[in-house]
Amino acid sequence: MTSFSLSGKVAVITGGNGGIGLGMARGLAAAGADIVIAARNAAKSATAARELAGMGRRVTAIQVDVADQASCAAMIGEAVKQLGRVDILVNNAGINIRKPADQLTPSEWRDVLSINLDGAFYCAHAAYPHLKKHGGKIINIGSMLSIFGTSFAPAYGASKGGIVQLTKSLAAAWAKDKIQVNAVLPGWIDTELTVGARRDVAGLHERVLDRTPAGRWGTPEDFAGVAVFLASTASDYVTGAALAVDGGFSIQG
Ligand code: NDP
Repeated sequence: MTSFSLSGKVAVITGGNGGIGLGMARGLAAAGADIVIAARNAAKSATAARELAGMGRRVTAIQVDVADQASCAAMIGEAVKQLGRVDILVNNAGINIRKPADQLTPSEWRDVLSINLDGAFYCAHAAYPHLKKHGGKIINIGSMLSIFGTSFAPAYGASKGGIVQLTKSLAAAWAKDKIQVNAVLPGWIDTELTVGARRDVAGLHERVLDRTPAGRWGTPEDFAGVAVFLASTASDYVTGAALAVDGGFSIQG
């Protein structure tokens, strides 16, 4: 029977201390999962962990820099040590540096690719031996820039395009291990990542409203349901997909 219950499962959410990651963590915890919040800012992670623990789950916060392969491996090792297993990995940590290509430095390019794309691979690679023990789920966070191009985010767009192809590659490789790997492509969501753009880019707020059939910006809460679906047995025959959670932004003609 189809079940959305995540009782007895352990979910690792990179960048789970705020924004979309925390929205997903709240959904996963409400469905019964124990939670690992994995991010750099320990104080912010501790606050998020306290909130989730209040939902009656086992929750731990582990510091990680996803751009560093050894840090990802240590984080997954610590998660297993503290909570006994890893069933669900959400590769959500991400940054953006908004600059046209001619102004973006090679080091800025590297930083965005390292966090957004390398980090997803490093965490998936470290989690794989644990996920395959009981079957597992990986949810990678892409973007509308997995689909579209813009002049102001060349590294971000490349990293998020890569996320979709990484998702398909891992889905194909690990289906035999009963691991489903899917991507979620958020539209414009009101978080710390977009607050600067919203403030600095004249007319952005209104353009997003005009283009989005839902008529509003997204919120972290909009990601709770999709996280539960893609983390539960309800999605066992869904793999390699890229699911837009965008209020219709990407289908607007
Ligand atoms: P936030 O800035 O609120 O969240 C980003 C998270 O990533 C933070 O929790 C941050 O925690 C973590 N993070 C950043 N760098 C690292 C790192 N090196 N190692 C570990 N964790 C890191 O933004 P959003 O919630 O908006 O973004 C979440 C994801 O959604 C990103 O992948 C983003 O690209 C994607 N997205 C967002 C959209 C939006 O409109 N908001 C649209 C499309 C995609 P800490 O600083 O503590 O490390």
